[in-house]
Amino acid sequence: MVQNPDIVIVGAGAAGIGAGLGLTRLGIPHVILEAKQRVGGRAFSDTSSIGHLWDHGAHWLHSGDVNVLRFMAEKLKHKFRPETPAVTSFRSFIDGQWKVSEFATDYVWTKLEEIVEAGRNGRDVSAESVLDRSHAMYPLLRHWCQLMYSNDPNDISTRDAANYSDSHVNLPVEDGYGALVARLSRGLPIKLGVTVKSIEVLGGGVRLGTNAGTVTAKACILAVPARMMERQRIAIKPGLPATLHQAFAEVTMGYGEKVALAFDRKVFDGFEIPFADVFDPVVPETKPLNFELHPFGRPIAVAHVGGSFARELAQAGPAVMTAFAIDTLVKAFGADIRQRIVASATTGWTMDAHIGGAYSGAAPGRAGSRKIFSEPVHERLFMAGEHVHQHYMATAHGAYETGLDAAHKAAAAAGFSAGPKDPLWLPS
Ligand SMILES: Cc1cc2nc3c(=O)[nH]c(=O)nc-3n(C[C@H](O)[C@H](O)[C@H](O)COP(=O)(O)OP(=O)(O)OC[C@H]3O[C@@H](n4cnc5c(N)ncnc54)[C@H](O)[C@@H]3O)c2cc1C
Repeated sequence: MVQNPDIVIVGAGAAGIGAGLGLTRLGIPHVILEAKQRVGGRAFSDTSSIGHLWDHGAHWLHSGDVNVLRFMAEKLKHKFRPETPAVTSFRSFIDGQWKVSEFATDYVWTKLEEIVEAGRNGRDVSAESVLDRSHAMYPLLRHWCQLMYSNDPNDISTRDAANYSDSHVNLPVEDGYGALVARLSRGLPIKLGVTVKSIEVLGGGVRLGTNAGTVTAKACILAVPARMMERQRIAIKPGLPATLHQAFAEVTMGYGEKVALAFDRKVFDGFEIPFADVFDPVVPETKPLNFELHPFGRPIAVAHVGGSFARELAQAGPAVMTAFAIDTLVKAFGADIRQRIVASATTGWTMDAHIGGAYSGAAPGRAGSRKIFSEPVHERLFMAGEHVHQHYMATAHGAYETGLDAAHKAAAAAGFSAGPKDPLWLPS
């Protein structure tokens, strides 16, 4: 534990760890205070619940050809799926039949691109308004909007969607994305189980009130989820500017949850394409569900839900979540598959007291509100986190980059000359 830190970082997710590495490189005394008993926040690799590694949160190195954490993974020899061969098709069980579709020509994936296109054309409207709700495949398209943006189509800003910089290279992390973020945190001065409850900006510094006492420093990096800020879980004195409060109400976190199932052996033989959507357009009230099958050859399946449906399921609890995933799996693979299930586990991001959702998205018409998150508050507070990034929002690598950025800004505010950033720096 660092005594008399010059800078305090609140939160040991990807953003807080990016900030910690930045300050370590600059040789600036700091401490990272984390409410949970583990690091990583929304990047969490679970190795115990079902007997095989699966990630509760971040799993894909999005924009993997330019993603800073991909290069970190390479440095650390942390395994992820290589770029080639690229996955160009996927399987769906639609209307009682399996079919293989190409991403390039599939209805759902073409329409997802049209949402982005509307934003690129300068329109900041809801995704729903550019989609055909009467189309038979709309429920599946809605499901994919919920998975990608963690919000329902009527809550997604087309402009915010277009602001996201997507190279369409998505690489899942075999050794675990959470495990990667945890590896990056090694050696950093992190204090677990410390919940920050208040921050007071004084002349020349900050004073933080926590469950473990008071900490003072010259500057503070707030790397907590946007929902914590929206709910004002940390009392900040003097108060935050009204425009910032408003931005937290306009760029809110959506919802996303997963259900992981383990089998007594591999059960999806012949599934050379490891993605499957299960959906019955004839009975639209049947909720579509996307599964990842046997990731990296593990005898598991991971189901994904998003948006208001994820929130409702999370509120209903793990038993309801699990039953929904298994019942849907049975529709596609038959009742015998029930006998093969040996363990199950669910995520709980919605109900998590320190997280409260999945990732941020601007409301329609409000894509511009994100900008304010990267501005200093009372000259001593600097925000970091996925919500702060202007074009890698909603991702772990975006969060990491904002942490590094905030480290340099906080260093300058604390009177250090920081020089250029080095995003790939790791202690030797
Ligand atoms: C289901 C799901 C799937 C996802 N999939 C992907 C993916 O495939 N690829 C990708 O790039 N991203 C993905 N994401 C998003 C990614 O996980 C996040 O964008 C990223 O991890 C956020 O990092 P962060 O540092 O901003 O916040 P967090 O990781 O949430 O870290 C914030 C930390 O602050 C702590 N904290 C909160 N309040 C306090 C307090 N008062 N005092 C002290 N500590 C506090 C929290 O405990 C937490 O550890 C996914 C997220 C979810 C939920």
